[in-house]
Amino acid sequence: MGLCGLVGGTIYIKIIISSNLEMNRIIMHIDLDYFYAQLEELRNPQLAQKPLVVCMYSGRTLDSGAVASANYAARQLGVHAGMPIIYAKKKAPAAAFLPADRPHYEDVSGRIMALFAGFADRFEQESIDEASLDVSAKCAGSYVEAKKLAEKIKWKLHEDERLSCSVGVGPNKLIAKMAAGHRKPDGLVVVSSIEVKDFLRSKAIADLHGVGEKTAGALAQKGIKTIVQLAAAPVSELQESFGEKRGLLLHEHALGIDNDPVEEKAARQISRIVTLRENSSDPNAIAVHCSPLAADIARKAKDANVLFRTITILLVSDRIENITRSTTLPGPSQSEVDISDSCRGLLGEFFEKNSQFVCRRFGIRVSNFEEPKAQKRIFEY
Ligand SMILES: [Mg+2]
Repeated sequence: MGLCGLVGGTIYIKIIISSNLEMNRIIMHIDLDYFYAQLEELRNPQLAQKPLVVCMYSGRTLDSGAVASANYAARQLGVHAGMPIIYAKKKAPAAAFLPADRPHYEDVSGRIMALFAGFADRFEQESIDEASLDVSAKCAGSYVEAKKLAEKIKWKLHEDERLSCSVGVGPNKLIAKMAAGHRKPDGLVVVSSIEVKDFLRSKAIADLHGVGEKTAGALAQKGIKTIVQLAAAPVSELQESFGEKRGLLLHEHALGIDNDPVEEKAARQISRIVTLRENSSDPNAIAVHCSPLAADIARKAKDANVLFRTITILLVSDRIENITRSTTLPGPSQSEVDISDSCRGLLGEFFEKNSQFVCRRFGIRVSNFEEPKAQKRIFEY
């Protein structure tokens, strides 16, 4: 009897442990702090001391366009991303206003995303400066381990790139993302599954993912002003106002439920970079690397079943300056010759104007992807 009980007990414990492992999903959300502005501060450290605004100029008039990113000194003056540049100039007239250097940001982002992916069981890039990592198995379902891993990632990012990020850890993507936004910049917030309820109680309804200004207004009209009230609202009522899918989603999110998996998205760019045997300012000497790199990239594009339109050369100087120059093809391509020809042209143009540049590393990147369509394309003939 006693033995039976013991055996039974052992089996029971095993079941608990294994089901626990399956259930304890741990997701990490990483958000790079004021990414574009932080990168500009790195390039020019004097800018870090004052308000800095990175702009997407539309080119129509001198100041038309919107703010893409602002450092915290500029935010304190009321500047935020999405704001028209003209307003930002009124709020922060003494700020430095810089045009966005998207190729450079993409370049650094590519390196960082590869770094993050190495820490995850499954990895999903959400945008140029945000990623979700499923670390359930890596951390054996332990939030203590997940916190240690987050600290390690933050340290490594600073070590490699001199950048800071905010990290949120939670039982799903929704809570992890909200946790990352909870303390910025340079934050680390862990919300374990048992803490979800209290965490949501502390947040405003507009902080709930998927609730924009418009939805918040519509909910307020129904008397729903907090996440707790939203969680208590009948699903059918929410579905009546917001549609079946969206109504259910709002209900689930208010309860902290989110089953969306972390999914690897297809690559957004393919790149290769080499270190030159000798530093060089001779475009012809550097161009010998075009064909082998292009062949490798074209093969990867074929393997990934993508067509690219944008081709970029990456040049790193002996003083670790990063330069990128891009060209966009008239149509989508998968051709090795398109890559190498474009790169030779870009190299020639760059060194014509920058003959003093001493290149240490040379790379090629293709991006702006399209999936092949059914109809025949020019390069198939
Ligand atoms: Mg960010």
